[in-house]
Amino acid sequence: MGYEYDDQNIFAKILRKEIPNDTVAENDHALAFRDISPKAPSHVLIIPKGKYVSFDDFAANASPEEITDFMRLCAEVTRLEGVALDSGNGFRAITNAGSDGVQEVPHFHVHIMGGRNMGPMLM
Ligand code: 5GP
Repeated sequence: MGYEYDDQNIFAKILRKEIPNDTVAENDHALAFRDISPKAPSHVLIIPKGKYVSFDDFAANASPEEITDFMRLCAEVTRLEGVALDSGNGFRAITNAGSDGVQEVPHFHVHIMGGRNMGPMLM
């Protein structure tokens, strides 16, 4: 099975500005915006601007610049949302992949959630 990218996925439409988003921060290779259905007081999605389906696709195939920009934007979001460990109480960062991971949108994204105790990981 490959990483066939669907240009019609909702995050591709957000990147093309065909549908609006509530942007938190952005850099050359990544965009951070609020989840439309937040599961925590702070719930931000970070996506690469490149066409990557999932974490494993991004980790295997993205350039060093894309990976660095993506990770730095994740860090910036934690600071902007007041959940970074140098200034806040922490957060949960997760990514879902494929059918067993119950990934809804097939464009790689990390969820950063905080502002409350997130409880134990579901098993
Ligand atoms: P996944 O299950 O793929 O990891 O999570 C997809 C996330 O995208 C969900 O938390 C869902 O609420 C969010 N989402 C789905 N459609 C939209 C949308 O149109 N705009 C925004 N901002 N978030 C969305």
